[in-house]
Amino acid sequence: MYDVAIIGGGVIGGSIARELSRFQLDTVLLEACAEVGFGTTKTNSGIIHPGHHSSPDTLKGQLVVRGNQLYDSLHQELNFGFRRIGEIVVAQSREDLPILEQLKKQGEEKGVPGLEMWDKARLQREEPNLSHTLLAALYAPSAGVINPYEFVFALLENAIANGVVLKVNSPVTKIEKREKILLLQTPGETLSARFVLNCAGVFSDKISQLVGLEDFTIHPRKGEEYMLDKRLKGLVRRLVFPVPKASTKGTLIIPTFDGTIMVGPTAEDTEDRYDASTTYEGSDRVFQFVNKICPSITERDTITEFAGLRAVSSTNDFIIGPTRVPGFINVAGIQSPGLTSAPAIAEYVRDILIEEGLLLEEKESFNPFVASPPRFAMLGLEKQRELIEKNSLFAKVACRCELVTEAEIHDAIDHGARTLDGIKFRSRAGMGRCQGGFCSIRCMDILAERLNQSFTDLSKRGSNSWIVTEMVNEQHPKMREG
Ligand SMILES: Cc1cc2nc3c(=O)[nH]c(=O)nc-3n(C[C@H](O)[C@H](O)[C@H](O)COP(=O)(O)OP(=O)(O)OC[C@H]3O[C@@H](n4cnc5c(N)ncnc54)[C@H](O)[C@@H]3O)c2cc1C
Repeated sequence: MYDVAIIGGGVIGGSIARELSRFQLDTVLLEACAEVGFGTTKTNSGIIHPGHHSSPDTLKGQLVVRGNQLYDSLHQELNFGFRRIGEIVVAQSREDLPILEQLKKQGEEKGVPGLEMWDKARLQREEPNLSHTLLAALYAPSAGVINPYEFVFALLENAIANGVVLKVNSPVTKIEKREKILLLQTPGETLSARFVLNCAGVFSDKISQLVGLEDFTIHPRKGEEYMLDKRLKGLVRRLVFPVPKASTKGTLIIPTFDGTIMVGPTAEDTEDRYDASTTYEGSDRVFQFVNKICPSITERDTITEFAGLRAVSSTNDFIIGPTRVPGFINVAGIQSPGLTSAPAIAEYVRDILIEEGLLLEEKESFNPFVASPPRFAMLGLEKQRELIEKNSLFAKVACRCELVTEAEIHDAIDHGARTLDGIKFRSRAGMGRCQGGFCSIRCMDILAERLNQSFTDLSKRGSNSWIVTEMVNEQHPKMREG
């Protein structure tokens, strides 16, 4: 019997799990996928928004500024990739200018720090590679970029270290109401909990229906993103936004935490909750638009592309709160800026649980820190030599594009990677120009050896994403070692 069961191991479930791990509670997190963070959380723009884009009349507009502020202390404690690089919203026409003023006013009323209007001359000085046809910009220094998957891995690692139980490959298929408790069924077991938090992203309406609630529906909105070659590093220094539209913040230029430039996302409604496809139309739209703002960006620089689904709810806002079913709490419809708001959502949900009667006693033993994973490529020669002296696997490079060593692949597995994507998102092996063309096989060798599995057991991201279906030469891995 758990005090709290969290359904969904994205950034929302992860943030709540970590917040609850401060208290003397029995908490379990049930995740359908093979690893945490494999839903919308790993397929977004990775922006920590300042908060001036969303209206204060919405819950998302209320939580976003607090969420942004909490990232500094979280970063110090959990050591994920995060940097405040600032953002500019650019005016392409005279009609855009009053919208910039309006955004500035809205931001100031919401407490967004440091907002500044830049005229054309200042904009050209600060970002010389943007189009000289742009008229002005609104600058927000508190905008940041983050590696969202690293954040969720660190949240869960810390939550687990502080007592939370994580069960992956555990899709909740049935929920039964009993007096004062809820029974949750997964393919492997049945669990009971006093409180159930529905953090299931694009499936949160389906989870709600499991307890007989039909109050809202989720309408996925797909966003395609295009990652560009590292040769463009430094082309723009800040996040670049057009003036926003009703359904989207528009197509953006995103200098990622790791120094690549990403462009996107699109915004297309879809019925398919598994749609991760990118399209010619999406690519055309993104590059035609971005090219007007930054003429030297072209689609020829694309090294990879992906798509994610925003969990847009029928209320077009976050749906967070208790329901008619005692103990069942929705944390649903967490569309953008959900990544930014996640730490504030965790506090908000903690307070709801207190109001609903959960006693929270702080744990003296709570340790807020997670050690950062080794990042060989980021170190100077002296430090690299020191690491190699301690562990010779640091001298074996697995991924040449990103300079990731075998020691880092082992470290990723030590910290929970069970799939090829799990290794990639923890170590960066496979994220460079060749996109895993060279290193995938070495990562698979190590993963197979460490998990005592054959190649045919390994998957890219769990469920049916098999990489090898049949071994033609069973000795293949051994032969390569020889
Ligand atoms: C293209 C795009 C760009 C975005 N950019 C930004 C941005 O820059 N900044 C920002 O703040 N926000 C951004 N967002 C929004 C942000 O990504 C989301 O708000 C956030 O990731 C939502 O997290 P989540 O935990 O609710 O959902 P998810 O990450 O989808 O997690 C839900 C989890 O629930 C699991 N699950 C589902 N059903 C079950 C079940 N039956 N049993 C157990 N587990 C289940 C899923 O497997 C999944 O892991 C963007 C979104 C998209 C699509």
